Amino acid sequence: MEKTDIRSMTLQELSEDVALMGLEPFRAAQIYKWLHIRGASSFDEMTDISKDLRRQLSSRFAIFGCEVEKKQVSEYNNTVKYLFRLHDGEFIESVVMKYKYGYTICVSTQVGCKMGCGFCASTIGGFVRSLASSEILSQVYAAQKDMNVRISHIVLMGMGEPLDNFNNVTRFLDIISNPDGLNIGMRNISLSTCGIVPKIYELAKKDYQLTLSISLHAPNDELRSKIMPVNRRYPVSELLKACREYIRATNRRISFEYTLLGRVNDSDGCAKELAGLLKGMLCHVNLIPANEFGESPFRRSTDDQIKRFCGILSKNGINVTVRRSLGFDIDASCGQLRLRQQPRGGSKVPKGGLNV
Ligand code: SAH
Repeated sequence: MEKTDIRSMTLQELSEDVALMGLEPFRAAQIYKWLHIRGASSFDEMTDISKDLRRQLSSRFAIFGCEVEKKQVSEYNNTVKYLFRLHDGEFIESVVMKYKYGYTICVSTQVGCKMGCGFCASTIGGFVRSLASSEILSQVYAAQKDMNVRISHIVLMGMGEPLDNFNNVTRFLDIISNPDGLNIGMRNISLSTCGIVPKIYELAKKDYQLTLSISLHAPNDELRSKIMPVNRRYPVSELLKACREYIRATNRRISFEYTLLGRVNDSDGCAKELAGLLKGMLCHVNLIPANEFGESPFRRSTDDQIKRFCGILSKNGINVTVRRSLGFDIDASCGQLRLRQQPRGGSKVPKGGLNV
């Protein structure tokens, strides 16, 4: 019999299972606390539970976690990148950043990525699999344990497309924000998507108070489809329509991410077109100077052009900031997380486009 992934269960679900096993009701909260507050990675760590019961639990449940395979600390000491090994031997990366207001972790939601954005390293090795909720949670728990700090903010901006793993990601959000677990408020969580339109509508219905970030990167279909294959399926007009509905349903401001790729999407004309597109929307634009990496044909915009682009948006009434890049020296910046092991059976993005 295949074991149940216990860390992906809600407290409610665990309580039901515990009752079915004929155990005392308090056991559910006890085990849940070990899994989600104390970050246990095995039943043997649960020392206030009898050996007999631990054996019973481990024959029925598996605890999926993250083992630290490698840890890199930025020489500026504000960023740590982890390479985590999963139970099946796959690898993912997570980044912890230190800000004035506390620690933020950038978590991965998939092993690899099938979105195929031309400027992003996460897409290079293709797609292997989606992560279970427990594996997304474990990145937070393992980093907290290793660094001996409390993480207060989460960004779903690591490897993978969160909305392409919708059920496991929303379950992750429910568990991490629950008062019985780490209790990280939704307002301290950001989720970034390349724009899977139907899932944006679905997320709007959840009415989470998180910050939705949209990776826009171009103000029109012609350019966006060239650098982001997902746009061929969900064009800019449909994406913005979904964003307006998201704002209406949740009353939350949307954050648009715009990576500035030198001489590709950073012209004055692009800035004006972008300002026109977003006029009157409850939003914020986050400009990201492109991070370069070996295989990428794209270059960072010049500092002058970044300033001009920002100025044009600002003059046109758009709320805009330029993202400060952390962890560049350890390849931990936006778009630099990548598949670390040649996947067995991992598929490349199909030539004809995406199937999302
Ligand atoms: N798949 C999601 C989550 C990844 S978030 C998404 O696309 O939003 C990572 C952010 O970094 C995205 O906005 C992504 O477009 C951006 N990014 C990717 N490659 C980059 C690069 N080379 N330089 C700067 N930002 C990049």
